[in-house]
Amino acid sequence: MIASRTWLKQALACLAQEAARSADTHLLRLDLPAFPGIRFYFKDEAAHPTGSLKHRLARSLYLYALCNGRLREGQGVIDASSGSTAISEAWFARLLGLRFQAVMPDCTAPAKVRLIRSLGAECVLLPPGLDASRMARERADREGLCYLDQFGLAERATDWRGNNNIAESILAQLALEPDPEPAWVVCGAGTGGTSATLGRYLRYRRLDTRVCVAEPTGGAFAVGWHTRDAAAVASQPTLVEGIGRGHAEPGFIYDVVDAVEEVDDADSIAACWWLEQALGRRYGGSSGTNLVACLRLAAGMRKRGEHGAIVSLLCDRGERYAESLFDPDWLARQGINMADARATLMQRLNA
Ligand SMILES: *Cc1c(COP(=O)(O)O)cnc(C)c1O
Repeated sequence: MIASRTWLKQALACLAQEAARSADTHLLRLDLPAFPGIRFYFKDEAAHPTGSLKHRLARSLYLYALCNGRLREGQGVIDASSGSTAISEAWFARLLGLRFQAVMPDCTAPAKVRLIRSLGAECVLLPPGLDASRMARERADREGLCYLDQFGLAERATDWRGNNNIAESILAQLALEPDPEPAWVVCGAGTGGTSATLGRYLRYRRLDTRVCVAEPTGGAFAVGWHTRDAAAVASQPTLVEGIGRGHAEPGFIYDVVDAVEEVDDADSIAACWWLEQALGRRYGGSSGTNLVACLRLAAGMRKRGEHGAIVSLLCDRGERYAESLFDPDWLARQGINMADARATLMQRLNA
């Protein structure tokens, strides 16, 4: 018997309606007097309904699974995540009336786990050393679930030529600015999806804008980038969630990235604390990593007498890290010296 498409059509209509109800995220401008002639812009991806840039990815992954015939009525859904993706995927699962399971490391910020559970999803927390992607895939096979596979599919589930992907959105928002073609776009690499989309789209549009990946020191993207190593392994772990992967992901498209800036955790954390002061809102650690990379690129431009724009992302809401990155006792327990990191940041901002 030929399968009916009634449910599929309803699910796709539901996702189209959600997209139509949602607004684009703001591109905020930040003026730093120490860098005359250099304009900084930050795309506020925390403003999505599910609080992070993974809202875009989750929508794309459900569309991709549905349009590939891999997700059917009544089927449960599963994915591996460091938390942000699972929040967005759980939210879309509820919208579509599907059961969702998130497989995550047990060090994931507690607020993220609470949020996923409050969306009606199940969290499977893994001790360190276990491969969450493998566990999710095995469970999917065993229980007949649809494996959304964010790490495997991020770079291809997004329409890199347009369809209001993040790159197209940023360039449209820059159209009336003094420098509509930025010198740099800076982002992190978790799945690698964002850097892949940015790098491809900028080439497609025939622009000179360069892509810089802001990476926690010793993360797998930084280790693998120079030699394009698809099997790269991190030389050290990070406290910054969402980026700084332990091993190279299938979505790391090294060839479209022009530079990598490695940032120590303390510097990333000091920067995300400073962002709260500067912008009046809390953002997560990877937004701080981005800011530090922006400041380093800007210092280079200033030294060479160059002008232009640097664009980056505010990746997720900082409220998720109230019990970790924003808790001084927690930071002290991790051995993070915030005083030194803050002094270095202030030097960079004021030099
Ligand atoms: C996923 C994630 C990133 C990196 O984005 P990718 O497109 O997956 O490379 C950065 N910050 C946060 C908070 C994330 O969740």
